[in-house]
Amino acid sequence: MEDKTFNISLKCLFCDSPLQGDADKEFKSGDLIECLECHEHNDYDALMDIAIEEGKEKVAEYAKDEIEKSLKKLFK
Ligand SMILES: [Zn+2]
Repeated sequence: MEDKTFNISLKCLFCDSPLQGDADKEFKSGDLIECLECHEHNDYDALMDIAIEEGKEKVAEYAKDEIEKSLKKLFK
């Protein structure tokens, strides 16, 4: 399987706006990320859980496409 990058966007848990992290700052477990829209503080761990779930779905979709392609080749 070739390398593929999945774009997973982090969204505010309160207002659903995309979260913008400070480029110079690395977030880690336990951090709170302030939303620029509603100024609520999002829990990093909760955001990661959601991002991981979203990522799994995208990977699953991608894998399905690849399997379909392989099957089509078999029946050429
Ligand atoms: Zn927000």
